[in-house]
Amino acid sequence: MLLHLEDINKSYIQGKMDVPVLHDINLDIEEGEYVAIMGPSGSGKSTLMNIIGCLDKPTSGSYVLDGNEVANMKDKELSIVRNKCIGFVFQNFNLLPRQSALQNVELPLQYANVPRRLRKNLCVEALTSVALEERMSFKPTQLSGGQKQRVAIARAMVNSPKILLADEPTGALDSKSGIQVMGLFEKLHNEGVTIVMITHAREIAEYADRIITIFDGQITSDEINKNKVVVKHSDNASEVNAAQENSAVVKGTNEPNIIEKILNADSIYDEFEDENSFEAEESFEDYSNDNGNLSGDNDGAKAEGFAASGVNGGER
Ligand code: ADP
Ligand code: MG
Repeated sequence: MLLHLEDINKSYIQGKMDVPVLHDINLDIEEGEYVAIMGPSGSGKSTLMNIIGCLDKPTSGSYVLDGNEVANMKDKELSIVRNKCIGFVFQNFNLLPRQSALQNVELPLQYANVPRRLRKNLCVEALTSVALEERMSFKPTQLSGGQKQRVAIARAMVNSPKILLADEPTGALDSKSGIQVMGLFEKLHNEGVTIVMITHAREIAEYADRIITIFDGQITSDEINKNKVVVKHSDNASEVNAAQENSAVVKGTNEPNIIEKILNADSIYDEFEDENSFEAEESFEDYSNDNGNLSGDNDGAKAEGFAASGVNGGER
């Protein structure tokens, strides 16, 4: 079993109150599964995703990830598990706005201390696999929503994690771009990647093989998806890009540290010195003064830079 959650509870502390959000979650996911976790807004999906993704710890219960009990790990150990095992995709992309597509994809490799030359090859390969080989030097503001999400998928997969964890991955995309993202997920699933996708929308959940429903912090159903929708993925870059004219509308949310967290910038960074390290330490405050985007989609770019969460972000 790749993921084993047993009697997981999660409460947030709000002032002096304990606010219980997840109640006795029991869940097993095997390697290679394609699972959707579906539920309405506020049902606890992102809270559960944060626990599955080792971005947060349960209040009680056991979580065994790839053979290791992670429920009680220290933050530093968790950050290493994240970097090794899990690729993240969020509703609002969470790309660093001043870095090129290539540099964004390179970050997890850098934090994993992969040698520079190898990094470059892996990044080109990852961007090619999402049909963005012609856009590698583009910055996020020069890319459409669908293209940004494809960069995020390349970044998530560049160090070959076993698990792809996605929170509302199509939530900020037009429907065509959303379908392309589902096509990429299908391709990764066929390559053996375990996919856990969180969504409030049944039509998105139906791309998965198994649909788990969550309501008020409890799993209310867990079923094989009999209506699975399959997208044929196009490997043809110009075809994919031709369908990408519409840019996404991105709404601002509230988790400034998520980029650092998913990339482990904080936690492993001080463990190694990389003489080739490029300037990844973009200041989030800094960015709020940045108007240098070409698409005129200023709010979107801002949100993406320092506020996009995908973690506690709303659905739309
Ligand atoms: P979903 O992703 O399904 O919309 P969330 O997991 O984001 O749901 O939130 C579930 C519940 O937990 C909501 O009632 C929300 O207000 C609460 N919640 C989420 N994050 C926090 C937090 N950091 N502190 C307090 N309450 C939170
Ligand atoms: Mg959510």
